[in-house]
Amino acid sequence: MSVTYLPLQAWNKHWTLDGSRVRCRICGVSQDLTAAGAFQHALGCKARTPQAQYPSRELAALLQQKIHAGLF
Ligand SMILES: [Zn+2]
Repeated sequence: MSVTYLPLQAWNKHWTLDGSRVRCRICGVSQDLTAAGAFQHALGCKARTPQAQYPSRELAALLQQKIHAGLF
């Protein structure tokens, strides 16, 4: 049961929600949840990865999994 929550915990370690924006916990840069482009970290942010990051899409996918699993 608790395993179901781990992806959201992992998401929460890297990102935080600020109103309608998603913010990187390390560099503090934020992006609107509806922005279609990849997340742009500040230069030198340790959370940067070689591949593009889409935190709002990840969050939407996690929520969708929970809804499908009947957790709401
Ligand atoms: Zn960052």
